[in-house]
Amino acid sequence: MFDLTAEIYHDADKAREHLEAIHWPHGPFCPHCGNANPERITKLAGKSTRPGVYKCNECRAPFSVTVGTVFERSKIGLHKWVLASHLYASSKKGMSAHQLHRMLGVTYKTAWFMAHRIREAMKEDVTSSGPLGGEGKTVEADETYIGKRETPRVSAQRKGRPYTKKGKSGGAQKRIVVGLGERGGKARMFHLNDATASTVRDVLVRNVSRDTTLYTDSSRLYTRTGEEYASHKTTNHAAGEYVRYEGAETIHSNTIEGVFSVFKRGMVGVYQHCGEAHLHRYLAEFDFRYNRRTALKVSDAERAEDLLRMARDKRLTYRRIGEADHA
Ligand SMILES: [Zn+2]
Repeated sequence: MFDLTAEIYHDADKAREHLEAIHWPHGPFCPHCGNANPERITKLAGKSTRPGVYKCNECRAPFSVTVGTVFERSKIGLHKWVLASHLYASSKKGMSAHQLHRMLGVTYKTAWFMAHRIREAMKEDVTSSGPLGGEGKTVEADETYIGKRETPRVSAQRKGRPYTKKGKSGGAQKRIVVGLGERGGKARMFHLNDATASTVRDVLVRNVSRDTTLYTDSSRLYTRTGEEYASHKTTNHAAGEYVRYEGAETIHSNTIEGVFSVFKRGMVGVYQHCGEAHLHRYLAEFDFRYNRRTALKVSDAERAEDLLRMARDKRLTYRRIGEADHA
């Protein structure tokens, strides 16, 4: 729960102070040169200066808390950004740009760009958060298909059969998503242009520790790579086997299928039109919430705070969307 009437959602100065408390727990630091010496940072004050502007006496550049975040240079009041961030952090199936546009009183276009910047902030830095799994841990891997009808090629891939191209390639290609879910832990989803043993292996070895017990279905996508793991157990979905008991082990991929199912319900109900180029951001959004779910004892407020914290150092990535002049 969060209190919609709180000042940080209605007052840009309060929102800025909220952001400062999160980003600068030990006082301001200069995002240009890294100077954090309070003696060498001056808070600018005066009629011509916006509140919240500081000057670095090392590199002489002015800065505020939003410099280096996805909120930088936005014309939208910071309180609207904070409110939108909290809404996205706490809406289990996400929120459409249309709804955001109506709730914030901004144009649809602006709401759309805001939502994508927020998703950019939600992106996990996989390098610093480390791999999933580890000794004594289990990770389920599976793939799913988002969108339109399957092409024969995708269908063959899904069934683990070789595909031989016959005639013209036609029909809309389904989007392939590979998901990894640690039992009782975190999940990560990835959009692949092509699901092959090699592209799937690439995702696995980058994201799952080799000491892990791996559970998948019997798709050939995982056979060889599975051998690189501490243990690899499969269920045969094609033969109707979804769970198998082996000693103390319960082999299934219900964890990652549950993650897929929340994602799909969100995509159908909220995000009807998602361009392929943006799919990775929607995946990041759903991963973000799942990895901070209530079952892991994360509150809505903590999740929203995480999002605001992660808004830093994302600006370069988001600039590539080519939306710098909007919002
Ligand atoms: Zn500086």
